[in-house]
Amino acid sequence: MLSFFDARQQILDAVTAVETEQIGLLDSVGRAIVRDIRADQSLPSFDNSAMDGYAVRACECSNGKCLPLDGYLPAGGKADNELQIGTAVKIMTGAPVPVGADAVVPFEQTEEKDGQVKVYGQVNKGDHIRWRGEDFKPGDLLLAAGSVVRPAEVSLLASFGITEVSACRPLRVAILSTGDELQEPGEERIEGRITDSNSWALAAAIRETGAEPQMLGIARDDRDSLREKLKIGLDADVLVTSAGVSAGDRDYVREILDELGVEQQFWKVGIKPGKPTAFALRGTTPVFSLPGNPVSTMITFEEFVRPALLKMMGHREVFKPMLNARLLKSVKKKPGRLQLLRVVVGTTAEGEMTVASAGDQNTGILRTLSISQGIAYLAADEGNFSEGDVVPFHLLGVATQLGC
Ligand code: AMP
Ligand code: MG
Repeated sequence: MLSFFDARQQILDAVTAVETEQIGLLDSVGRAIVRDIRADQSLPSFDNSAMDGYAVRACECSNGKCLPLDGYLPAGGKADNELQIGTAVKIMTGAPVPVGADAVVPFEQTEEKDGQVKVYGQVNKGDHIRWRGEDFKPGDLLLAAGSVVRPAEVSLLASFGITEVSACRPLRVAILSTGDELQEPGEERIEGRITDSNSWALAAAIRETGAEPQMLGIARDDRDSLREKLKIGLDADVLVTSAGVSAGDRDYVREILDELGVEQQFWKVGIKPGKPTAFALRGTTPVFSLPGNPVSTMITFEEFVRPALLKMMGHREVFKPMLNARLLKSVKKKPGRLQLLRVVVGTTAEGEMTVASAGDQNTGILRTLSISQGIAYLAADEGNFSEGDVVPFHLLGVATQLGC
């Protein structure tokens, strides 16, 4: 069977970034920029004071030395004159340091009286000065193509006067739930029916990536209903369906996709949960058919669809960082498939990271997914895992529910 890593790579090789657009700096938070952005000037753009105090020549400041005051430089002021030998200039944080000065002595280290300033303690060259270009020089890389803009990057770009950036346009991702047993959330309960939670869960996860979910509702397990809804879904940038891809006698999703000219790339991956996952392409439009059990739907989205959406929106890093942790408790497993274990994360008294099963790993158990903080990868070839084994995992976001 196709391995998890091969399946994921096959998906990533098949998808490409969509067109770009110019967006406002604030709207770019959480999105990836598509071109390298370089500094067009120095930052800081001039030598300035990091403290309220006195600009001096460090070599003229022995402990207890008195210097006559020769001027005042407020923040936003201009340093027109060179610092005269043997004098000090009162200076505010952010004000330009006058030529000749090579240190600022903070107020706390001085005493001012009758036009003289007395300096205490040691003063070293460079103290409390933010030098022109010490952060960035013209031509330095501010942000590489594919980087995600966070508030820190907004700060950086705003510092250079950049108020617009290019990013990929948001993807439109169609979502279709399939199954005769489904009813819409909020509808009066019908006996024997299951509420369609997958559409909502997928929409939420799609939104988190920065893409725009388009909920198509529920298709029934009949060919006409599926054909009608799948056709609409294929107009989106990406189509994600859930259920109807197992080996049941009414699992028609793959058959109708095939009829609509969608070419299957793979069906079934060596993972648990999520084995019946299918991936297909119509032209360049990716179609993900995820298994229907809500946990399988969410985990296969996380592991396969999310990285693909991020790549299509120009992100350079499409995987969550993998970390290593020790298993707190043994886990029973048969060799053959990679187990995507829902885990809670902790640390030992020595500061070593640990993971433990978050609870019942059955794919019907949403509670375990809700309290889990990460997904550990238990290698396909391995059998049982013992307490203390080191396993790779990635975070899912920190759960705050009771029972963590
Ligand atoms: P299937 O892959 O069609 O065999 O579906 C497997 C199981 O997943 C079904 O029996 C349902 O219990 C559940 N299921 C399928 N679709 C949904 C959905 N949209 N929301 C919640 N549960 C679902
Ligand atoms: Mg079904």
